[in-house]
Amino acid sequence: MSFGLTAKTRNAVLLVAILSPCLCVTGQERAQDRRKFLDPATPVSDDPRRIPVKPGPRGPDRVLVLRGGRIFDGTGKAAREGTLVIERNKILKILPPASTDWPKNAEVVEVTAKTILPGLIDLHTHLTYPLTEGDVQHAPSEAEATLRAVEKLRYFLESGVTSVRDVGSQGDVTFRLKEWVRDNRLAGPRVFPAGQFITGEGGHSTENTPDEWIKWMGATRIATGPDDWRLAVREQFHKGADVIKLGSHFSVEEVKAAVQEAHELGLKVTVDAETFYIQRAVEAGVDTIEHPLPRTDETIQLMAKKGVAADPTLIPYQIIFDEWGGYFGSTSRRFTFSNEANMGMLGRLKRAGVKCGVGTDLILHWYRYLPGPYIRELKNFVAAGWSVPEALVAATKTNSEILDMDDRLGTLEPDKLADVLVADGRPDENLEDLAKVDLVIRDGYIVVQGGKVAIAKHTPAPPPKKPEP
Ligand SMILES: [Zn+2]
Repeated sequence: MSFGLTAKTRNAVLLVAILSPCLCVTGQERAQDRRKFLDPATPVSDDPRRIPVKPGPRGPDRVLVLRGGRIFDGTGKAAREGTLVIERNKILKILPPASTDWPKNAEVVEVTAKTILPGLIDLHTHLTYPLTEGDVQHAPSEAEATLRAVEKLRYFLESGVTSVRDVGSQGDVTFRLKEWVRDNRLAGPRVFPAGQFITGEGGHSTENTPDEWIKWMGATRIATGPDDWRLAVREQFHKGADVIKLGSHFSVEEVKAAVQEAHELGLKVTVDAETFYIQRAVEAGVDTIEHPLPRTDETIQLMAKKGVAADPTLIPYQIIFDEWGGYFGSTSRRFTFSNEANMGMLGRLKRAGVKCGVGTDLILHWYRYLPGPYIRELKNFVAAGWSVPEALVAATKTNSEILDMDDRLGTLEPDKLADVLVADGRPDENLEDLAKVDLVIRDGYIVVQGGKVAIAKHTPAPPPKKPEP
């Protein structure tokens, strides 16, 4: 189904597409693989998607061995006894339990009775969003927004989450946090920011919020008309976005313009909308749809056919239903929905073969419930037909695919980046064991030890040498 385009216009567009090879190049249907543009080692290129990345630290100068535990590598294989060897910020090898094939000066950590997993990924967060009413007066301050975000990063780390995708935050905060984490100046998971949440007037993220508030908060960018939607995408690209987040209340032309612009810049697009907006977005070629919101079977089939992934995030709605007794009064959620319908949606997505990732969308004070909501979201997957190991694969490998980072994150395999979670017990058999986080390693650095955030003592910099007299 197509909205707003008459058959005549459609045919005209088709004719132009056939006749114009140029349109086929610039009007790409999907974001091209931008991974090769992210690596500092990539040679200089004149491709506009190439973003020169300053090389960060390559992990601590040592070999780290995790010995005596079980390894759930995230590839889909069953957990097995083994030893994980990390060199600097990469996984060097996985050894059978009897082997001691590592350098003598390696740091060896015994992880007996524990399970080693890839670090978890959360696909849906808003690091700068304000917390409770008491916090609201400070909400517009970017300093406060940064501090809120830093606090949240700690909760994620302590929950074994080593990467978060931020799909709408204030100002430059998430872009700066991304750099500070990358440079190991701040304890946190990797941050993949979208920048501002781009939405139409009255669309999701504007409802129940006075206009001046939207301006103060700075996390939402209201766009009007295809050119402005394009401009809003470019603004996020300019700041360094890793993904583009669209809301709702867009015309066919607006969403098409935004998606085309993002894809030309090498950025994937995710959409937070419902019903016919999802249909429009899927037709326009978006990459991911957030939430379990209503959509038709036709839309679900089209998602499966076009390889559009889902980030179902049932958990925020479950918290809303539990704490508020229902969801009311939103211009962009103008329908009735229930936990049963949301669970049904997750099952329908699975049965249709839509790739599903894991995100929590913990706003307000809810992130303080971590790791509970993350574990509960995985249990939702299990209730909808995933096995426990499959749910963990969704949280790691599938999420890394949705981030376009599966060549370096998401599984424990040689040469991947060392983002690792060690938990007591067997989370691949009992998800509750995921709450027993013992050790977390991000980019080769131990960032959680004994369940607490660990910050290494800094190496004092030598004072400048006195000039020779
Ligand atoms: Zn959200």
